[in-house]
Amino acid sequence: MTRLRALVPLLRPTRFSTSATAPTASTASPSNGTVAPDKEPFSIYIHWPYCSSKCTYCNFNKYVDPNVDNERMERSLVTELKSELAYWGLDQGNRPIRSIYFGELGRDHTPSTALRSLLDARAVWPGKVSMDLIMGHTGQTLEDWEKELRFTMDIVDDHLSLYHLTVEPGTALHKDVVQGKTTLPDSDLSTDMYEATIQLTREAGFEHYEVSNFARNKAYSMHNSGHWFGIDYLGLGPGAHGRMSHPQTRQKFRTFNVRDPAGWMHECEEQGTGQGCDGVVY
Ligand code: SF4
Repeated sequence: MTRLRALVPLLRPTRFSTSATAPTASTASPSNGTVAPDKEPFSIYIHWPYCSSKCTYCNFNKYVDPNVDNERMERSLVTELKSELAYWGLDQGNRPIRSIYFGELGRDHTPSTALRSLLDARAVWPGKVSMDLIMGHTGQTLEDWEKELRFTMDIVDDHLSLYHLTVEPGTALHKDVVQGKTTLPDSDLSTDMYEATIQLTREAGFEHYEVSNFARNKAYSMHNSGHWFGIDYLGLGPGAHGRMSHPQTRQKFRTFNVRDPAGWMHECEEQGTGQGCDGVVY
């Protein structure tokens, strides 16, 4: 951390003031080139690092802690938000917020509570509710997956994210697979599942607009598509990554926060942000 922080003065853009030269419309725009850079929308990603239990396949920066100091966490998030908005020149309100993503998704629900939440969400935001499913888990057959997918397409709005389970090193699932305690669908079955996914979603009117994402009525994901198109996003919370443009030069900076929640809160309290380094320019 000390080493990373030492890099910050070298790599971060210098603090800017409102009297600094404003970027011009001719400066490269990461979105479509038609919006002035100082008016470009940006997204916010907020990472909450705690889950009530850890899923065996999860390699996110997540912790199970029965004694979470929620108030301190929330205070730190607000501190970091204010600090980063000011730092990147976003506190003037010139650039609209495109989307806000809460990296929170604690999966201690049952199928029926998940269904109830989906229906509640659809009542509040009709046409705006997406659902994530994972295919290729232990013991799953092609028929199981097709049945689950058909059921989901009957109840979901116009967007689906359908991911294939990946076994990440360091997870409990990886350990079980290596030790032969669990087996997953082989590559043939996995391929069949993906091909069935493409066919069934097409029959149901979904457009396969990204490897794992499907939409009807052009209901593309605002947040994810922002990532794919290179639009700026502010990463807040332990371990969060971000990508921001310097307000004058438009040079892109990749940001990444301290992963450990206690360390991140300490940094927020001490220096207003838990950003360990934002040194990768591209
Ligand atoms: S609910 Fe999501 S973030 Fe939490 S442990 Fe499971 S997969 Fe990871």
